[in-house]
Amino acid sequence: MPGSSRHLMCFNSWPSQPRWEAAVIISTFHENTEAQRLGQSCPGSHSVSTPTASPAARPTELLTLTPWLAPIVSEGTFNAELLQHIYQPLNLTIGLTVFAVGKYTHFVQHFLESAERFFMHGYRVCYYVFTDDPTAIPQVPLGPGRRLGIIPIQRHSRWEEISTRRMEIISQHIAKRAHREVDYLFCVDVDMVFRNPWGPETLGDLVAAIHPGYYAVPRQQFPYERRHVSTAFVADGEGDFYYGGAVFGGRVANVYEFTRGCHMAILADKANGIMAAWQEESHLNRRFISHKPSKVLSPEYLWDDRKRQPPSLKLIRFSTLDKDTSWLRS
Ligand code: UDP
Ligand code: MN
Repeated sequence: MPGSSRHLMCFNSWPSQPRWEAAVIISTFHENTEAQRLGQSCPGSHSVSTPTASPAARPTELLTLTPWLAPIVSEGTFNAELLQHIYQPLNLTIGLTVFAVGKYTHFVQHFLESAERFFMHGYRVCYYVFTDDPTAIPQVPLGPGRRLGIIPIQRHSRWEEISTRRMEIISQHIAKRAHREVDYLFCVDVDMVFRNPWGPETLGDLVAAIHPGYYAVPRQQFPYERRHVSTAFVADGEGDFYYGGAVFGGRVANVYEFTRGCHMAILADKANGIMAAWQEESHLNRRFISHKPSKVLSPEYLWDDRKRQPPSLKLIRFSTLDKDTSWLRS
């Protein structure tokens, strides 16, 4: 197995050596100009180093297990053929939720076409598109065993409001409908495309994805909510990874508990007139500290087109498009 001793190195220093904490990139140390470029492409990021590394050395490999022994999934850590043999006979149905409200309906076509190509190929899939304008959702041809549900929702004027209502809407949708229709459910942003296969290696009880901006950053620099008044508050010594709000999932019952918990925390903040630093992403990160994900997806599963692909990522499976944010949010 590649790098097992390297993982031990990482665990031995967890969490007593803060320079190591929560960096997903580990410890094959080369004089590595690629990693230096990575540091530059990611403002505010610091690559980690160990006491044994020379000052110029930079880590280039991804961690493959969390300290609580959940797999961190990336290319090379699993055997796709073997997983196919295990999961295919289970006849699973996988749900995928996206929100397309206002101008974000523009993303749906590209999103669904790419999902048809790469998302859970060969499995039964239910897409759930929540939108304020069902007529704007294009008809994308779907493969056998794949269905699209369009769920009308109310439009909110502020984009923060749209994104923070997602937890509430997803939990209600699971209770009403999805719990009967799917075994696993992923909840993702719509301003993204699939570029490479996303398969059964991603299935787990509760699944989080590492945010592409913070996988090489020490925990102290994670943009958690730091105000005590918020229910998303994270103390300095807490936290494992910084997860992205754009991808999470798991068994449908677990996703229900998860989204409901986040929704309750968001409601409590609202009652106190508080909006967490990164809205629902702050609450998601808070909750994953006390409810650890059983599987963690590497940034292959949540990348960002505005970033250069670093050598530690062998491929990009799902990525945020470089979008015109000011137009979208106007
Ligand atoms: N969203 C939407 N309409 C909006 C704002 C947001 O449908 O006006 C949904 C959409 O699914 C989007 C997600 O909420 O992908 C999160 O918003 P956004 O992608 O703008 O946040 P970012 O990824 O830039 O933090
Ligand atoms: Mn997004």
